[in-house]
This record gives sequence, structure tokens and C-alpha cells, in this order.
Amino acid sequence: MDKGLTRLEAREQIRESTGEGWLHLVDDVYKNLPPLISISCAFEKFGALRFDFSPRNDPAFADYLEDVARRSLEICEICGAPAIEMIIDGWTVTRCNLHSIGWVWRSDKP
Ligand SMILES: [Zn+2]
Repeated sequence: MDKGLTRLEAREQIRESTGEGWLHLVDDVYKNLPPLISISCAFEKFGALRFDFSPRNDPAFADYLEDVARRSLEICEICGAPAIEMIIDGWTVTRCNLHSIGWVWRSDKP
């Protein structure tokens, strides 16, 4: 049986792809991970922290991950400071003021 990613492997994927800001959310997810579910991938999509997991038969855990994704949209993916969604170099990201040099669109400035 595929055991999926360990907490440390998931932290490493997020640290390499986005930064340090969401690592406490990764820790929370593993704290709340039901025993029979494994996480296959941790990644950023449209500025939010997302996880692939299996089996996908636990609606409460799926809802919980949606909530984590929503929380990640207010946390700078690089440093963990309060943040907003924005587009930088064509990518939707979630960054604080310090880490948003080069933004072309921000959710607080339509
Ligand atoms: Zn930041």
C-alpha cells in the first residue's frame, strides 16, 4: 500500500515550491489527517495550499482541506505574514506587501 507523503516530505515540497509561510498549515493538516487517508501531493494552486489525497471517501476531511486552502489565501506563502492574492509573472500567488514586488493585479485593487 502506498503510504503517501510523510509530514516532512510534504513540508519539503511546499518549502521548495512556495516558501516557509504555509508550513504551519501543513503541520495542521497532518495533525488532523485521518488514519486511513494518505496524502500523495502538497502543492500551490491559484494561490492556495492544496493537497491530493486518497482514498477520497471522507467528506469531512475534504471540507477541512477546503478550509485550509481558504486560510492559506490570507497568509504569505513565503513568510507567513498577512497576505492577499495577486498575480506575479503570470502566476496567482498569495503574498504580503514585502514579498509582492512586481505584482500586476491584487485582489484589494480591482
Ligand atoms: Zn511575505
